[in-house]
Amino acid sequence: TATLYVVATPIGNVTDITLRALHLLSIADVVACEDTRNSSKLMSRFGLSVPMIAAHQHNEREVADKLIARLLKGERVALISDAGTPAVSDPGARIVDAVLAAGLRVLPLPGASAAITALSASGLVNDRFSFVGFLPAKSKQRENMLRGLLTETATMVFYEAPHRILDCVGALAEMFEPTRQVVFARELTKLFEEIHRCPLSEATAWVKADPNRERGEFVVLLEGAAESSDAQEVEAERVLNILLAECT
Ligand code: SAM
Repeated sequence: TATLYVVATPIGNVTDITLRALHLLSIADVVACEDTRNSSKLMSRFGLSVPMIAAHQHNEREVADKLIARLLKGERVALISDAGTPAVSDPGARIVDAVLAAGLRVLPLPGASAAITALSASGLVNDRFSFVGFLPAKSKQRENMLRGLLTETATMVFYEAPHRILDCVGALAEMFEPTRQVVFARELTKLFEEIHRCPLSEATAWVKADPNRERGEFVVLLEGAAESSDAQEVEAERVLNILLAECT
């Protein structure tokens, strides 16, 4: 059967590429990638030269049709993104959907994912987690989304762009109890990798303590609500904490 291979690539350290990914990329007829310039660097690092086509969020549907046509001709087609696992907070989901809808097979080649990497070193409860991904950029929408997570008991996983990290942490600090643990997983697998755990009350100060922290890539993990808490209780505790802070 014609098969689309969804191939995970490293999130920083190039040696995290898997042997299977290297093999597949070396025999692929075409690789659909988010940014051909970025992926050419990865390919040339491993001496690979495969025809590439750009598949970014604005052309996924058209690219899907082209890829399906190639798959039907019997070509080997791989899908990669700039970093980590395609189709997860990255382009690719629509291509996968179209290929499945065409009755063709999709085979994932597992590898790096920033979320799972961060969770594995967080020490937060790892058996249940809720992947939130990127928060909305607009503060009202962000607030609404966070309010909906007040009673979430699973560890929450956020992706964030460096220039928004302070906004993100500020929004978390306003919404959740200051005693909740936060984990910052910054520049994972890269030279300036940092994994820092602290109560939410100390999170903004930690980011501000080093100007480099507003650069680089972040996964932010937030401890879930205590099992017993219902929405009203959580809100009451949040307000109480604000009042207590005012009194001291
Ligand atoms: N598909 C990717 C994956 O499997 O993790 C995620 C791509 S998403 C567009 C980019 C976001 O992932 C960044 O803003 C950051 O939140 C997170 N991320 C990617 N690489 C990272 C790294 N090396 N360290 C920390 N976070 C990273």
